[in-house]
Amino acid sequence: MAQLSDDCFAFGGQLMSGAAALDLLCRKVVALPDAETVPLGAGLGRFLAAAIVAPRAVPPHDNSAVDGYAVFHADLRPDGETILPIGGRAAAGHPLGRAARRGEAIRIFTGARMPDGPDTVMMQEDCVAADGQVRLRAGIKPGANRRRAGEDVAAGAVVIPVGRRLRAQELGLAASLGLAALTVYRRLRVAILSTGDELGEPGGALPADGIYDANRHTIAALLHGLGCRVTDLGIQPDRPAELHDALAAAAAGHDLVISSGGMSTGEEDHVRAAVEAQGSLHFWRLAIKPGRPVALGQIGRVPFMGLPGNPVAVMVTFLTLARPLILRLAGASDLMPRAYRVRAGFDYRKKPERREYIRARLEADGTGGWIARKFPRDGAGILSSMVDSDGLVVLDEGLTRLENGGEVDFLPFREVLD
Ligand code: AMP
Ligand code: MG
Repeated sequence: MAQLSDDCFAFGGQLMSGAAALDLLCRKVVALPDAETVPLGAGLGRFLAAAIVAPRAVPPHDNSAVDGYAVFHADLRPDGETILPIGGRAAAGHPLGRAARRGEAIRIFTGARMPDGPDTVMMQEDCVAADGQVRLRAGIKPGANRRRAGEDVAAGAVVIPVGRRLRAQELGLAASLGLAALTVYRRLRVAILSTGDELGEPGGALPADGIYDANRHTIAALLHGLGCRVTDLGIQPDRPAELHDALAAAAAGHDLVISSGGMSTGEEDHVRAAVEAQGSLHFWRLAIKPGRPVALGQIGRVPFMGLPGNPVAVMVTFLTLARPLILRLAGASDLMPRAYRVRAGFDYRKKPERREYIRARLEADGTGGWIARKFPRDGAGILSSMVDSDGLVVLDEGLTRLENGGEVDFLPFREVLD
């Protein structure tokens, strides 16, 4: 893992933008995990470490796309029906076994190898068969209903490039090529911890004036969704020495450490000092809302991401900053989610020079478009707002005033919660 840049943009007064922070993360991380071979059935959600090259063509031979009759197009009358004798039968897995002859029709079924000779298949719905003969309609095009060898995949083609995340369709395609094992990157090992003397574990006793730890559970779920192996280091107290030791332990044997809370500048926020004592921070505040107190750094040589404490800010910074970092570290080629243009169903004023993420629900506008309805409460601690939203409206730095009905970028949670 390469050292990250030592420049820290946060100390100069001017806050670094989210885009610049992302650029920094993605540019600086160069080393990838080792590769391993897994059986096809264990490939779901993994990132491909060696391109899949087709060892053979799919389909392997010309075959019929329908149930019907295989004919030489040149045997069909252009101006009316043609009657041909049925000279044989070909089913999937049961080829005709000889070349077809001019002037005969071959009964054929979907997936059956095309006999040598015929170039066209007429579907059975367009034919009438009786007494060993078939009556064929006029007007079919030469080559109709014939699937060509290699039309799906040509032998030798690169069908899935390095860095692609394996979904159902990639696994199916690999199976269609006869591949039983795939080369993927080792799963990223991520250690997570929460900080805060007020936190208690669901199911356990709460400290005085305590609240339950929500963040670790959100973060663990988000990491599992990205295919990571998660080590849960629990809740750490707001005490510098303990935090220091917990972070050191977290870095050992992991590819990434993620904490939440304790990143601000209050007297009870000790994460920043604990990281700097054994590594460095590359930024610790960004010009984004929610999520301003968010840090990227390293503990020794292990990347560290310090997320805020407020649960909504945790999710927003995870999805917009930690996710691309994790994907990059995991070997993915596609880091950035797609935003979609929708209409805002609200007015909004914002400060320039910072990017804001507004929780919103999508509503059909009745003409095929979508309107983003803003969740009524903005607080960074209102986690129920995430449950009741479909995604985030992204308002860029330059914008200061959004009019109801204006076009905005919308980042659906579905785009980033896989
Ligand atoms: P902090 O950044 O540590 O000052 O935390 C900011 C706010 O987030 C405080 O109200 C904390 O109680 C709350 N908070 C911090 N960590 C968690 C957590 N793991 N789960 C739920 N709320 C948290
Ligand atoms: Mg705290």
